[in-house]
Amino acid sequence: MPKAHTSYAEFYKQSIDQPDAFWAEQAKLIDWFEPFTRVCNDDKPPFVHWFEGGKTNLCHNAVDRHLATRGEQAALIYVSSETGVEKTYSFGQLHLEVQRMAASLKAMGVGRGDRVLIYMPMIAEAAFAMLACARIGAIHCVVFGGFASGSLASRIDDALPKVIVSADAGSRSGKVTAYKPLLDEAIRLSSHKPEAVLLVDRGLAAMDMTPGRDLRWSDLRAKYMHAVVACEALDSTAISYTIYTSGTTGKPKGVQRDTGGYAVALAASMRHIFDCNAGETYFSTSDIGWVVGHSYIIYGPLIAGMATIMYEGLPTHGMDGQPNGGIWWSLVEKYKVTAMFSAPTAVRVLKKQDPALLKKYDLSSLRALYLAGEPLDEPTARWISDGLNVPIIDNYWQTETGWPLITIANGVEKKPSKFGSPGIPMYGYRVKIVNELTGDELTGPNEKGVVVIEGPTPPGFMQTIWQDDARFVNTYWKSVPGKMVYSTFDWGIRDEDGYYFILGRTDDVINVAGHRLGTREIEESISGHVSVAEVAVVGVADALKGQVAMAFVVPRDSSVLGDRAAAMKLEGEIMKRVDGDLGAVARPSRVRFVSALPKTRSGKLLRRAIQAVCEGRDAGDLTTLDDPAALQQIRERLLS
Ligand code: AMP
Repeated sequence: MPKAHTSYAEFYKQSIDQPDAFWAEQAKLIDWFEPFTRVCNDDKPPFVHWFEGGKTNLCHNAVDRHLATRGEQAALIYVSSETGVEKTYSFGQLHLEVQRMAASLKAMGVGRGDRVLIYMPMIAEAAFAMLACARIGAIHCVVFGGFASGSLASRIDDALPKVIVSADAGSRSGKVTAYKPLLDEAIRLSSHKPEAVLLVDRGLAAMDMTPGRDLRWSDLRAKYMHAVVACEALDSTAISYTIYTSGTTGKPKGVQRDTGGYAVALAASMRHIFDCNAGETYFSTSDIGWVVGHSYIIYGPLIAGMATIMYEGLPTHGMDGQPNGGIWWSLVEKYKVTAMFSAPTAVRVLKKQDPALLKKYDLSSLRALYLAGEPLDEPTARWISDGLNVPIIDNYWQTETGWPLITIANGVEKKPSKFGSPGIPMYGYRVKIVNELTGDELTGPNEKGVVVIEGPTPPGFMQTIWQDDARFVNTYWKSVPGKMVYSTFDWGIRDEDGYYFILGRTDDVINVAGHRLGTREIEESISGHVSVAEVAVVGVADALKGQVAMAFVVPRDSSVLGDRAAAMKLEGEIMKRVDGDLGAVARPSRVRFVSALPKTRSGKLLRRAIQAVCEGRDAGDLTTLDDPAALQQIRERLLS
């Protein structure tokens, strides 16, 4: 298992032509308490039920099933450069901690189908809480620790959690943010009130406990030190978790996932996409508040019997809190990381560090670096590829898909990557490019359209929007005229070799004098200039042209920021470059230089907020904004 395949093309074809046989084979990668009776039920599209009749458990597959063969092996390696804590839990120890947490949750009345909202920093207890929920059949809803009270309150009102698990505080760049007051305020604002709140005290901030509601993890952990809590045999289609998508406005959209399909999808991806083996170490630099954290910090690596590194902190600071741009590479060396997963934005941060840091450590264990979440520009890809001397593999996916839908499956067949392209469709995904107005499929090379997925969607893909099937159908499946296909809301093209290129969100489109342009294309051109470290392009309303492009550039040399002549020279060069690459129609009307761009905590550019500021509008919900000063700087630059 799996069968020897001569080529990825054949592997992919089988997944599309004989999905039942294909996925039944993949399902052998996990343990089942009871076998499934039907592989794929898509009788009522676009809803898909995977492995009906089967019973399994995510926590069993991530933890318990490894106890016999690798109980002593490292499972969770927790490293915080914020607090200097570094601790390894073996599968055996993880098993004990998860049972303590599971027993605590049960004592608080949590059972199958109940929601547990997890509002936590990157600490090991957050992983225990997620796995404990999976163990007892509760649905976890992890809300990113950086969210403020208002966003948290709307998620509480959507998820209706019986219990909330949280902590005293998070820390970022040495700055402590007390979570407890934020949580208390959120509970005050929300209509729904949780029955109990379980709090981990890291000793970072004082906690004002609400009697009768708030409980301390240290007390419950001691009480349930020797608890034995069995894994529930859950229906494959039982909901494992919901996660709210980033950047949405108004009512939050809870992406809902199943149990069996997700477990199979992750197990298959660890083998076929990430080319990993049990006993190795995986290091994803994401956060548990994002889908990558769910899939590739917690469940994926553990299901594969790997050790997983959970890292709290910046890539630029060491365990002593002092600047150290080599911290991640030191972890790769120390824990013999074989696969690393990060985001282009993190690499761009590291690009500003001394390149010698990449040579300082023994990185020979590393086989590949995977990057996802945003377009990977060629200069960034080349820089890290040269530095690490391992394949850099771009992954295209969404919270909704749960695992990559376009990348390279090196575990099946080693295929070359192309700079600027995440790769080719993954097995199980019927990816198409369609004309957004007519819905017609675009089959020719380099024809630009919307990237869509035809049903049935593969295991691991979202089941629906939590409590809102109608919204799921209307939002995702009805945006292309005349066809029921899932829209990614991304522009894309496919070249003559079948490689896809993602050109930005359909909602980031700019229309300049009737020409449709992706901000991404302009950014790609600008970021190719040697003096440019980062760039954001937005479309700004213009009385004459409808919209014009405006570029905000972080120069490599920060002296440009204070030197008007140098700034004007660079602005001219950038415009010339865009003229040359894309034509004058795409030329930004202005290029402004800034020291940082406004991004979410997960590294996504907040283009819509920049656009709003440029157009003198309210920037909207900024709870996901990492650095408010960056937006303020844009405001100031516009006036200067
Ligand atoms: P999220 O659900 O927050 O992870 O955002 C998903 C969106 O991020 C996608 O629809 C794309 O616009 C973008 N994205 C994710 N991965 C990539 C990638 N490898 N290349 C280009 N865009 C990406």
